[in-house]
Amino acid sequence: RTVYVNGDYLPEEDAKVSVFDRSFLMADGVYEVTSVLGGKLIDFDGHLARLERSLGELDMQKPEAFDDLLEIHRELVRRNDLEDGMIYLQVSRGSAGDRDFIFPDPKEVKPTLVLFTQSKPGLADSPAAKTGIKVISIEDIRWGRRDIKTVQLLYPSMGKMMAIKAGCDDAWLVEDGFVTEGTSNNAYIVKDGKIITRQLSNDILHGITRAAVLRFAREAQMEVEERSFTLDEAKAADEAFITSASQFVMPVVEIDGVTLGDGAPGKVAPRLREIYLDESLKNAI
Ligand code: PMP
Repeated sequence: RTVYVNGDYLPEEDAKVSVFDRSFLMADGVYEVTSVLGGKLIDFDGHLARLERSLGELDMQKPEAFDDLLEIHRELVRRNDLEDGMIYLQVSRGSAGDRDFIFPDPKEVKPTLVLFTQSKPGLADSPAAKTGIKVISIEDIRWGRRDIKTVQLLYPSMGKMMAIKAGCDDAWLVEDGFVTEGTSNNAYIVKDGKIITRQLSNDILHGITRAAVLRFAREAQMEVEERSFTLDEAKAADEAFITSASQFVMPVVEIDGVTLGDGAPGKVAPRLREIYLDESLKNAI
């Protein structure tokens, strides 16, 4: 596999970053994951725009190659013969050659830019989409700027492990009784045909898939309500689902052991998945 590191395309065993890199020492880095279907990038512009916003919120410089990112993504797809899968991109504040809480002078330290591909043959026909997934709920103890896509992913990773240990697939994070989002996805419920998902704020990541799915839902005359919902409301919902760049729209059929509906994906989530995949493929670049 070929990996991109600061301007170079390298065999993965030669792709290296300094031990002083601030993403390694302080989780001082941001990332994006873009899906590839049929060799084309899904929602690329949205991911690029969010990357720019994450960098700005953290006062991090744009990497020199920022304007070439589309070309770099395409080059990695080509070099790795990527048909279906993901491209992972990470920018860190760079390596100052020392460990220091003070940000290095941006005139002296350049950001680190790394991209690599992950192949997932048949990504769009995931068997889980047909059966739906099971989630547990856990307390949301993450920091208060979840709108910034940082590489500080220890708690979401622990949450996913708690779910696996409980025989489930993922965890929904709950704060003051309200669902914020999933460990790596946005969360939705459906009640009486209405799609309900938490409003945008610093409490959740502004999902690129979320934005597209809500737009398609409204275009299809489906009713959408952006507001907080409680865990109890979710357990009493007709349907639930999650969205993310790598899972698209994925039905949720069980929350904390409580079965939703008849335990199979309902009508809304599978329909939204189909619309999302159709439209995104049409617009893929
Ligand atoms: N919330 C969190 C916490 C996430 O990590 C992700 C995926 N990175 C999402 C939501 C979904 O965002 P997107 O649709 O842009 O992948």
